[in-house]
Amino acid sequence: MMKQVIAFSWWAIILFAAVVADATYVFPEDLKDDCIIDITHTYKNVMPSFDSPAGAKDIINERIGDITVTSTITMGAHLGTHVDTPSHIFKDLRGKVTVDNIKLSTLIGPVLVVQIPNEPSITEAVLRSLNIPRGVKRVIFKTRNTERKLMDQLAFEADYTAFTADGAKYLVDNTDIKFVGIDYMSIAKKEEICPVHQILLDQNRGIIPVENLKLDGVEPGSYTINCLPLRILAEAAPVRYDWQAQGIDSTFASICV
Ligand SMILES: [Zn+2]
Repeated sequence: MMKQVIAFSWWAIILFAAVVADATYVFPEDLKDDCIIDITHTYKNVMPSFDSPAGAKDIINERIGDITVTSTITMGAHLGTHVDTPSHIFKDLRGKVTVDNIKLSTLIGPVLVVQIPNEPSITEAVLRSLNIPRGVKRVIFKTRNTERKLMDQLAFEADYTAFTADGAKYLVDNTDIKFVGIDYMSIAKKEEICPVHQILLDQNRGIIPVENLKLDGVEPGSYTINCLPLRILAEAAPVRYDWQAQGIDSTFASICV
């Protein structure tokens, strides 16, 4: 009898462990044990928004029916974590080069995360010091924006870290980067929004900026990234973005894909 009880207990433990490991849903307390890191911001009813002191509001409107709950979502395409396309800045490309045209292989694969904790801007000088080798196609910049927890405050912070025009030009001329990510609402400094977007989004180069990544707790290094934007005919779209650590590789060989 005792043997049967022990055997039953073991089966119960194994079954419980299997169910937990195979869970369909995750909750915040589980995430620390998950090898996949989600680096998107959660869409909420009130969120920080570019140039707005009070953020964007009434994004999710729940309608509670007799049987189901059905929400309507109303928001700008550049809210939260999202990709930009050339039609964002080149008006003649409106409707021609949209999120629907992005080659998904650009958004999926090895990525290098570099940390520049003290820089107010990503300039040519900063990029020179990073020495990002040719062959690296995807780079994410973890800046002081994350340390300052800018996305935890509703009011827009105009003094955020992002690219200057000379930084963008250097990146285009001296690297093979096709995908560039940043940890606040714009890839460009506020006072250089147009030139930076024009340089990076030039169709000949085809760089895709990914803005507003959630990088808390993310260490510099190499990762395998999956970034899938909503397939909509617009100049930008929200993305769900996750990655797995690959381990730091000082030769960068594993991320030149
Ligand atoms: Zn944008």
